[in-house]
Amino acid sequence: MESSCDVLVIGAGLGGLRAARDLADQGHSVVVLEARDRVGGRGLTEELGGRLVELGGSWFTPEHEQVIAELARYGQPTRDFPQQLHARWRTAGELRQGLPVPWNELPSLERALAQIAADAEAYGAGAFTGADRSALGYIDDLEPAPAVRDFLLGWWQLMGGAPPEAGSVVDAIGSIAGHGGLSGLLTCLAHGPGAGWSALAEAMAADGITVELDAPVTALDVTDGAVCTTADGRTWHARAVVIAVPVNCLPAISCSPAWPAPVAEAAGANAGSALKVLMLVRGIEPHGIAVGVGEGLHWWYVDDAIDDVVRVTGFGWTVDGFDPGSRGDIERALHAFFPEGELVQFTHHDWVGDERSLGTWLTAPAGQADLVDPARFAPFACAAFAGSDVAHEEAGWFEGALISGAAAAAHVHAQLLG
Ligand SMILES: Cc1cc2nc3c(=O)[nH]c(=O)nc-3n(C[C@H](O)[C@H](O)[C@H](O)COP(=O)(O)OP(=O)(O)OC[C@H]3O[C@@H](n4cnc5c(N)ncnc54)[C@H](O)[C@@H]3O)c2cc1C
Repeated sequence: MESSCDVLVIGAGLGGLRAARDLADQGHSVVVLEARDRVGGRGLTEELGGRLVELGGSWFTPEHEQVIAELARYGQPTRDFPQQLHARWRTAGELRQGLPVPWNELPSLERALAQIAADAEAYGAGAFTGADRSALGYIDDLEPAPAVRDFLLGWWQLMGGAPPEAGSVVDAIGSIAGHGGLSGLLTCLAHGPGAGWSALAEAMAADGITVELDAPVTALDVTDGAVCTTADGRTWHARAVVIAVPVNCLPAISCSPAWPAPVAEAAGANAGSALKVLMLVRGIEPHGIAVGVGEGLHWWYVDDAIDDVVRVTGFGWTVDGFDPGSRGDIERALHAFFPEGELVQFTHHDWVGDERSLGTWLTAPAGQADLVDPARFAPFACAAFAGSDVAHEEAGWFEGALISGAAAAAHVHAQLLG
């Protein structure tokens, strides 16, 4: 079976949907080929005990203008997250409230934070030279006292979605630089979509474009226009194509002629392998954070309460010996930070095992940070790339997906007119 349109878009995450929607707005016929049976990609909203939870991305920052504009376009509400009221730390094997480290380690903490702030400033000025180092190597070179080391490792969890030996420290240093300093890491978690990211993706998908679900692309030919072949053997023809799949999914698509060398080298390079577990917990105070080295989950966001039941998110890394589907493992992880908490329900999505993502948010691999340089993903033949993994701005965020989708659409539109 054969079908044709002006532009094919591969992947119905926010990056692909934005490219498709912009092209449709400009009068082109667009078909989005999506492998899953749903749109939204790494944005996925579900209900847990009658309350919305985000299994993929959650937050956007006050600077994320594209997200704000999309929510406004579809009349969808914004949820504002309030300031946090309490914090606790698990460092050097002890649960602490107040200071994150013992009194005698304060000079070590001060030295480490000063160095990190200076490196973030250097990054902002384009002068940071440590991008190839792993987060673990960077932290150990600071020679931190034991509790300081755990404090830093806990914060790495929020920024880098990979184990500290696998992720490049540039993800943390870049985040600190991009969010106005160390405290910006917390204040940037300011907003979320009130109806969920899935609702936003569904609204975009219903806005003048055709989305074919259950249509994984296995082959792309750009020798004469664009021809996509889906797993069921159908072929799809167009004058141009936008490739908006995660970089770790590129190897599953054969390209003719072969992928440009910089792309082929980068395919599969996202080291992001975070765990995100959503919980309903009774017996803890709402609106707080907990950070350190725990039992599988190391960075905690304690959200709001309804009838004494609090929404809680815990982040960790995919490691052997911790099963995010096991109630016993989740209870152990919870009690390491919140011994008073009673686990009511929990859920998670395995983004690393999911063949349509094969990873979480973009995290540069240690020693090879240049593999995720967006300059590698320049348009070629009649193809352009989109998606947060290849975004020139706000890479790794929904905002980056939207920015890159808009840029790909502008490129393809100009090409089609020319
Ligand atoms: C656990 C987690 C937490 C996160 N937290 C945040 C956060 O708080 N804030 C934030 O801004 N971002 C966060 N992110 C990142 C954010 O979710 C992503 O940046 C964003 O969803 C990426 O959008 P995208 O369109 O680039 O890719 P995706 O959403 O991954 O979309 C790509 C699409 O391509 C499809 N696809 C793959 N292969 C094929 C194929 N062969 N054929 C057809 N279709 C294919 C996929 O099914 C998918 O729908 C988080 C991500 C995760 C996983």
